[in-house]
Amino acid sequence: MSHKLNLLYVFTALLLHFFATTLATEPWNTDQQQDHQLIKEHGLIHHVLFNQQCQKTLAQLAITTTCQVLNSDMINAFSLADGNLVISLGLLKKTRNRDQMAHVLAHEFAHHQLDHFHELAQFIAKPPTFFPKRKLHKLRQKQEHDADDWADERLQAHGFDHRQIHHLWQQLSQSEQLKKWSDHAPLQKRIDTKALQATVLIDPEWRLLIRDLSQR
Ligand SMILES: [Zn+2]
Repeated sequence: MSHKLNLLYVFTALLLHFFATTLATEPWNTDQQQDHQLIKEHGLIHHVLFNQQCQKTLAQLAITTTCQVLNSDMINAFSLADGNLVISLGLLKKTRNRDQMAHVLAHEFAHHQLDHFHELAQFIAKPPTFFPKRKLHKLRQKQEHDADDWADERLQAHGFDHRQIHHLWQQLSQSEQLKKWSDHAPLQKRIDTKALQATVLIDPEWRLLIRDLSQR
């Protein structure tokens, strides 16, 4: 084999290695880095009463993890690599009862429980030859759907009203910039009009707690 050909092999191998590692690690790292960046940028709120309520909700859902509040008015919630949950103040301000927060937390925990980040990383590491983008989009949609189903079941099994979340989604979808909530499915697609027939529970105690959390 000629010297030039050898070099070409080495170069190609390096190039392949570079793309393989970049593709394999990028989505996972990007998601994780973004979440950690958000915490660094905005900070977390420590509010004893609220934290108690949040932990109580998780305990009732039989979810063993912690929840924390991101000090930002953006609408967001995510689970960290260790399964700990973060929900933004902006999103909490829109909730009208504990059932809505319970659904948000259960949905985020479902991504962790169902190993979605790992599944996504594996897909990116070995993308299919045909229509990789379309298939990736489908996989993400399926994961969102599965996380919603997981949350619905969990809420129903543990005495929460799983229909309440649809009122929150509807409320959010009515604000122009929020047709889509971060990387989640478009809100309109998530809303079940049948679920909206259940009246929205206005919980004054919950509203007071959120107001106190916002004004601490
Ligand atoms: Zn999700």
